Amino acid sequence: MDGSSYRGSSSVDMYLPNYKLGKTLGIGSFGKVKIAEHALTRHKVAIKILNRRKIKNMEMEEKVRREIKILRLFMHPHIIRLYEVIETPTDIYVVMEYVKSGELFDYIVEKGRLQEDEARNFFQQIISGVEYCHRNMVVHRDLKPENLLLDSKWNVKIADFGLSNIMRDGHFLKTSCGSPNYAAPEVISGKLYAGPEVDVWSCGVILYALLCGTLPFDDENIPNLFKKIKGGIYTLPSHLSPGARDLIPRMLVVDPMKRMTIPEIRQHPWFQARLPRYLAVPPPDTMQQAKKIDEEILQEVIKMGFDRNQLIESLRNRMQNEATVAYYLLLDNRFRVSNGYLGAEFQETMECAFNGMHQNEPSSPAGGHRLPGFMDYQGMGLKSQFLVERKWALGLQVKFLCSLGVSNGRMLRANF
Ligand code: ADP
Ligand code: MG
Repeated sequence: MDGSSYRGSSSVDMYLPNYKLGKTLGIGSFGKVKIAEHALTRHKVAIKILNRRKIKNMEMEEKVRREIKILRLFMHPHIIRLYEVIETPTDIYVVMEYVKSGELFDYIVEKGRLQEDEARNFFQQIISGVEYCHRNMVVHRDLKPENLLLDSKWNVKIADFGLSNIMRDGHFLKTSCGSPNYAAPEVISGKLYAGPEVDVWSCGVILYALLCGTLPFDDENIPNLFKKIKGGIYTLPSHLSPGARDLIPRMLVVDPMKRMTIPEIRQHPWFQARLPRYLAVPPPDTMQQAKKIDEEILQEVIKMGFDRNQLIESLRNRMQNEATVAYYLLLDNRFRVSNGYLGAEFQETMECAFNGMHQNEPSSPAGGHRLPGFMDYQGMGLKSQFLVERKWALGLQVKFLCSLGVSNGRMLRANF
């Protein structure tokens, strides 16, 4: 991309001196997502521009800030990385990993149902990312193919944690939800619920969509759609393999307590088949990851004129400053450039990190870790009110105001 495609307004230039802003990638509920180039490393990033006024109107500012704090700690090959957050009087700029192959949504719409091996490959990546979130006490709550992005190597990257909620031991959280087609029965019933099992349901719907090219639960009429979801009423096409036929119904169990869990999905023979080595072990913990510092990358950042000790200190404390942002951009870039992203060295690094972690980690339950900035996060479902229907949907899509119990909107037919 040439320099001329990165132009920004003067206020943007003032607040984002380290980035050259480019074209709009997508329109989010609170503002735009734009491509940009990081001046120091020339690394391409995506910047989500959140309008503070809109956020404030919804009393969401604190919640957005909390969400950002959590995501900043996340580091997983199948989750969009968050590099830094810049606050201005009018906006919040969220600088994150840029991926160029669009949404899994468009991929399915274009290709129709996928071959089993390709669907499984996507599914394994999604489950490993979701498992990582849960392990770090975050429930995504809005998992759907529109929020699953694809990188240049067609790897899945989980994006849009707008609805994510932090799990709290012993606390059930009342909150609203995302798209009805992917929402679990207990979510649309407005029940108080704990969390991880709602992501399992959505993953079941996604797996169905990958393998069938249609949605398991769909209806133009919202009350009918809800009836189908709450009753777990759907059909499995005959072309599905025995393994997939066994797995999908276990994920789409109406009773959240009887629904399959992520560890159980991992054990399932259909999931286990052709499982890449780097995904064969559970994901590492964010705090463990933070302790690992790459000497080569460190040297590169020092060459840019930053102080070694200060940088190490900032990395250990997960602080955000110019040096740490450059470090993480270079780190991500190296994996991508030298190894085709998921090549041997990457696998070894991940395995090393996993093994290192498990050695000094007693069997800690998923709920056993506390993050700094650990918090409760609710109610982002309201954002749906501001969404304008944007394109063709998988099945029938409706604007959905879960928290208000209202549903309206244009309905779009899938172009299968
Ligand atoms: P919303 O909360 O409005 O759904 P998203 O975070 O899902 O916002 O972003 C809206 C759209 O912008 C996405 O569906 C995607 O097409 C594009 N987009 C978002 N983040 C990125 C990214 N990191 N890289 C490339 N495109 C992105
Ligand atoms: Mg989204």
